[in-house]
Amino acid sequence: MIRRGEDSMTLKTRVEALVAEFKANGRIVIVGASLAGLRAAEALRNEGFTGRLTIIGDETCEPYDRPPLSKGVLLGRVPADHTTLPRLRTTDADWKLGVAATGLDRVTKRLLLDNGEKVPYDRLLIATGTRARPWPNPAEAALDGVFTIRTRDDAARLRERLAAGPKRVLVIGGGFIGSEVASVCRELDLPVTLAERGEAPLVGALGGVIGQIAADMQREAGVDLRCGVGVTSLDGDGNGRLRRASLTDGTTLDVDVVVAALGSIRNVEWLEGAGLAAGRWGVGCDAGCRAFDINGVVTDSIFVAGDIARAPHVLYEYQFLSMEHWDNAVLGAAVAAHNMVSLEPDRYPHLILPAFWSGQFGVNIKSVGVPPFADEIVFTQGSVKERRFAAAYGYGGRIVAAVTFNQGKWLEYYAAQIERSGPFPPPPPGWDKPEDMTPMPAEFKDPSSATAMPEVVLTGHDPSERRAEYRPRRR
Ligand SMILES: Cc1cc2nc3c(=O)[nH]c(=O)nc-3n(C[C@H](O)[C@H](O)[C@H](O)COP(=O)(O)OP(=O)(O)OC[C@H]3O[C@@H](n4cnc5c(N)ncnc54)[C@H](O)[C@@H]3O)c2cc1C
Repeated sequence: MIRRGEDSMTLKTRVEALVAEFKANGRIVIVGASLAGLRAAEALRNEGFTGRLTIIGDETCEPYDRPPLSKGVLLGRVPADHTTLPRLRTTDADWKLGVAATGLDRVTKRLLLDNGEKVPYDRLLIATGTRARPWPNPAEAALDGVFTIRTRDDAARLRERLAAGPKRVLVIGGGFIGSEVASVCRELDLPVTLAERGEAPLVGALGGVIGQIAADMQREAGVDLRCGVGVTSLDGDGNGRLRRASLTDGTTLDVDVVVAALGSIRNVEWLEGAGLAAGRWGVGCDAGCRAFDINGVVTDSIFVAGDIARAPHVLYEYQFLSMEHWDNAVLGAAVAAHNMVSLEPDRYPHLILPAFWSGQFGVNIKSVGVPPFADEIVFTQGSVKERRFAAAYGYGGRIVAAVTFNQGKWLEYYAAQIERSGPFPPPPPGWDKPEDMTPMPAEFKDPSSATAMPEVVLTGHDPSERRAEYRPRRR
């Protein structure tokens, strides 16, 4: 006779044996050979996975780091091919580079590749990230002198053009990347115009109050900043070289370089027909990085990490967040890797607070939390005039985000406040309290109005809260 205790012990032992067998001999495939893909591969090996590991990436080069592309590389301080990501350990993986995944068959658990190959998997990690949104008119986008910036080659080409001393650069879009490019141009002493449809740069990510400070910074640095202004067309000469841009303020500009910094598009097309919850906002997954199928049922063998992942966050009313940030890719990869080889009770949640940094116009901007979730902002430290300050964002009486300009050392304090749902306004940590600490509207626009693409996108889980999904992209 088998007593109940023995029975469950046998089951536990059997399950543990299955996990051990999977860790020793399973097949894991990672699609996307960049930051999230590489760090997930390394984490899998650290977790003791010794089975077969395949990494598929459509770029031909080794994984590289993107943040320097719009900063040091454009300035000429870092050659584009010196951005290769450091390897933290050996991955002992089968790297298939220069090959794209074109389909996923979940029934037979196979990936289809553009070279005709079919790759079987037991567990799959989707880490295909995003690509730059191109200038929407294909003929104009093809003009010699029109750039986007997402890849190492994009950055190398743009660097070459900037180094050649163009007459004027036009940056379209005042989000982080557009603003960084404008900053580089001024550092290189190049005339630059930035056209932003919203009323200030960075307004989508940080709101109107901070956006005005960013606008002042740009103008002081000599950027011809035009807010509330779009670009209607780009014109070339008979040889297909960019010559002119027409703007909605009725002016035309003679330009020989245009950088379209219009945000990103998630690389989900290859998942069409796979029955996953994949769409324009990324691939939906739970807080443990497991992908949802199209009906919202969690899968058990498909995981998601990096820019393409879209997961609910407890601190933000369980809204699904898509975070296009470096830290999110690194930590999401570690959590996904751990959960891929762990039993349910041992799984971790990926509950990182969104955080990003940007360097522009001599200022180090850092943010933590989700600023667009807020409706109020208060300056808590330092001086706006000196471009050295901290501000906290609030919603419903609690702190939900913070931003610092040249005050990054205080970010941890604000992160701790956010993590424990501290009060808004928060008690200022430093001695350098600003004169005016009155909360004011944070000035985030209705998501249906045209603004720069925010770096953090909020989308709702409840039909009545799904406004963020409506964001017109028409010109
Ligand atoms: C110019 C620039 C500056 C940035 N600066 C900052 C910064 O200052 N701070 C910050 O926090 N973040 C910054 N970021 C964002 C940061 O780089 C990203 O969050 C990070 O790269 C995300 O990594 P990922 O692996 O998820 O996606 P990605 O880096 O986008 O990698 C996805 C990979 O998958 C490949 N792929 C796509 N589809 C397929 C397919 N079907 N088959 C095979 N492979 C495929 C892609 O080509 C790519 O190589 C910046 C990004 C850019 C572009």
